[in-house]
Amino acid sequence: MVGALLVQQTMWENVEKVLSDLKCRGLMDVQAIASMPLEDLQEVVRPAGFYRQKASRIQNLARHIVHHHSADPCRMLEKDVGECRVELLSLPGIGDETADAILLFAGRKPKFIAAAYVRRLLDRLGMISSDDYGEVQRFMESRLPLDAELYMRLYALMVHHARTVCRARPRCQDCCIRYRCRFTR
Ligand code: SF4
Repeated sequence: MVGALLVQQTMWENVEKVLSDLKCRGLMDVQAIASMPLEDLQEVVRPAGFYRQKASRIQNLARHIVHHHSADPCRMLEKDVGECRVELLSLPGIGDETADAILLFAGRKPKFIAAAYVRRLLDRLGMISSDDYGEVQRFMESRLPLDAELYMRLYALMVHHARTVCRARPRCQDCCIRYRCRFTR
């Protein structure tokens, strides 16, 4: 859940440093994050960028879990997926993509994350052309089995492909799926 908030507007590599620092300091704990001075949390979060905003969002989430779920994130994530999503979206700094990343990677719920990278790739492949997050998510979820492992793997592969090959300026000559791609035709 912390990772999903930290990765906003930065690369995962920067998030990993912060996560490992939080673990080393014994701070990967809901009660600890909820009660620590915000300035101290900001210092730990700093390498992930936008550290004031992110520290405050992480602490808000931790305090929400303390007050509404007895400090147990699993109790929140065990709820019905729709209800849990609405609850996450009600918290500051949590939008569609962050809520779905939490539901998928922390809650193991089959939610398709229709991130900008993923939408661009689907558009170029000729599958769906839309900037509407919900429309792309519904399109994919209606075609995939309800399998969280599959969603996680597919998301990781699509983001990796979009970051390394199907970039803003696509490297189609190096692409393993170019013969199936409408963009190259
Ligand atoms: S062929 Fe080009 S546009 Fe199509 S998926 Fe590959 S890199 Fe992207």
